[in-house]
Amino acid sequence: MNAPSPITAPLGSALGPIARAGQRHALRRAPQSLSFEFGPPKTPELEETLWTCIRRLEPLNPDFVSVTYGAGGSTRGRTHRTVKRILEETSLKPAAHLTCVGASREEVDEVIRGYWNAGIRHIVALRGDAPGSLGGAYQPRADGYANATELTAGIAAIAPFEISVSLYPQKHPESPSIDHDIDVLKAKVDAGATRAITQFFFDIDAFLRFHEQVRKAGVTIPILPGIMPVTNFNGLQKMAGPCGIPLPDWLGELFEGLDNDPDTRRLVAGSVAAEMCARLQEEGLSDFHFYILNRIDGADLAYAISRVLGVRETAA
Ligand SMILES: Cc1cc2nc3c(=O)[nH]c(=O)nc-3n(C[C@H](O)[C@H](O)[C@H](O)COP(=O)(O)OP(=O)(O)OC[C@H]3O[C@@H](n4cnc5c(N)ncnc54)[C@H](O)[C@@H]3O)c2cc1C
Repeated sequence: MNAPSPITAPLGSALGPIARAGQRHALRRAPQSLSFEFGPPKTPELEETLWTCIRRLEPLNPDFVSVTYGAGGSTRGRTHRTVKRILEETSLKPAAHLTCVGASREEVDEVIRGYWNAGIRHIVALRGDAPGSLGGAYQPRADGYANATELTAGIAAIAPFEISVSLYPQKHPESPSIDHDIDVLKAKVDAGATRAITQFFFDIDAFLRFHEQVRKAGVTIPILPGIMPVTNFNGLQKMAGPCGIPLPDWLGELFEGLDNDPDTRRLVAGSVAAEMCARLQEEGLSDFHFYILNRIDGADLAYAISRVLGVRETAA
């Protein structure tokens, strides 16, 4: 006899989580929190693409949109300009990522104060990786913040920011264990973190087990699963490998032979991400963070998936 499925599917139902959600329409609730992550653009052309993505997603009225920060401050000016423009020209609430690797406390504190003075009230506090050392040995600067926990405390000491931090459902590559990562998260909460955003993942059962472990450890802040709508599996492999993110065989198989067929890849990407999100929603997750990577197809997919989750546009 087959082991019972962990999924809460009605017995004999052939429906997947999206259709089941439709069936239980009356019980269904749109996500409590939706957020999108972008990168600071390098060129005027890329800036235009970014703004196409932002304008596409703005009507969904996300809780916040975040802008990444290059390790060592390499995008300091661009990140600052981008969050400031979002604040000034849109109805969105920007969150600025900030890393502490390769910088002194004084330099990082100056960036934090700069954000506060520019009207930014939300920072995503990260350690970052030294260039070329992703997943390798990390050497903190003697006069710098040693890790994201120290950075979180530093930000909280400067001004009452909302502070989001990272979380790794399948372990940070340098961490000895998931338990250690959860201890680190608890230390970040004690230091002032108000929300955790996870690394992207594709193993939903592993994520759900991890989520349960985090809650059992007494962490109550919102945990946003990081969703990466994937249209290019080869690109994903390059990104996931150094971050220690396992990619399931089934995902590779879905994209097999589609290298020259971007339209089908987009459709496959949309189905995978929508099924993942609908399943998480069915399991009670109510907050979602989408990695857009400034790709217009990423924004299109996030838009479609948000609708599948029950989000509707707000009136202009
Ligand atoms: C949502 C999200 C957004 C990101 N955005 C960016 C970005 O904008 N720019 C960028 O460069 N990178 C970004 N990253 C990547 C991140 O910088 C790397 O994953 C980096 O390796 C770790 O950063 P962290 O903030 O998770 O570090 P930390 O939380 O400091 O953890 C790093 C390692 O140190 C260990 N550790 C932490 N504190 C302690 C302690 N007190 N004692 C012992 N061990 C400890 C942890 O277990 C872990 O193994 C992002 C990651 C995520 C998940």
